Amino acid sequence: MSRQGTSSPPTVNENRILKGACQEIVRTRTFSEEQKQTLTTVFQKRFQQALGLVEAGKVRKYQFAPSGRTIWVVTGRGRDYQVLPDSLFCTCDDYYFRVMEHKKQLCYHIIAQQLSEAMSKHDAIDMTDSRYSEITSKLTSIITRE
Ligand SMILES: [Zn+2]
Repeated sequence: MSRQGTSSPPTVNENRILKGACQEIVRTRTFSEEQKQTLTTVFQKRFQQALGLVEAGKVRKYQFAPSGRTIWVVTGRGRDYQVLPDSLFCTCDDYYFRVMEHKKQLCYHIIAQQLSEAMSKHDAIDMTDSRYSEITSKLTSIITRE
């Protein structure tokens, strides 16, 4: 690890750093102060916001049976957003504009989802497949809003 100047541009790979930190949390079953410090350095305010959502129980995982499909939902400012962990996609405006501007930064909903999954700190809601379309249609209406 080389020491970088404070004025270097934020060219770090956020996805890789977040995934790496989460794997470490799962492996060691602890969220060390050192990791928190690293994530604070990389994500700054977004990390604190994400951790706040996790600790306030704003991350939910819907598990559908018998298909086994899952949906992750993070409640932000009064609205639910769907996070797709595999593609690190979120339905919020923040994510949309970041991607449009090619900043490719992660929004704090994604960070919250990743952390809560690693920490196993989320509500798991079991539902039957018959309710899948009802749940997703609410979320899809957000995606196609504009
Ligand atoms: Zn988001």
